Amino acid sequence: MLSIAFIAHDRKKDEMVNFVTAYEEAFAGSKLYSTGTTGSRIMEKTSLNIHRYMSGPLGGDQQIGALVAQDELDLIIFLRDPLMAQPHEPDIIALLRLCDVQGIPVATNIATAELLVKAMQRGDFAWRELVHKYKPE
Ligand code: PGA
Repeated sequence: MLSIAFIAHDRKKDEMVNFVTAYEEAFAGSKLYSTGTTGSRIMEKTSLNIHRYMSGPLGGDQQIGALVAQDELDLIIFLRDPLMAQPHEPDIIALLRLCDVQGIPVATNIATAELLVKAMQRGDFAWRELVHKYKPE
């Protein structure tokens, strides 16, 4: 089973909710995580069950980063606001860095998110299932 995380900055939350609603079926079979408010917003509009961490500015990105460091996440959809400074910028950079360390697919805009979800639907994430299967305990 794939593990997917959702994070959206405030001015990107509507876009995230619309996106996840549109692809709800694609996400239904995965283990889902999010930062606090993003997850609440998605769960209000879908029947998905999402494990919510802290809000981003309070450490949620770091909590999701911990999953990445342990190679436990397979896909991150992180809709960043490119036009507004964020108080937790260092946490955001740290999370993206860890994705690069582990080679985890991360979409930071809706166009990439859509391509990655279509790839997931096609079965292109099978290599991640193998990573989980052969991961030493
Ligand atoms: P939030 O956190 O989902 O709790 O708003 C995301 C962020 O703003 O970094």
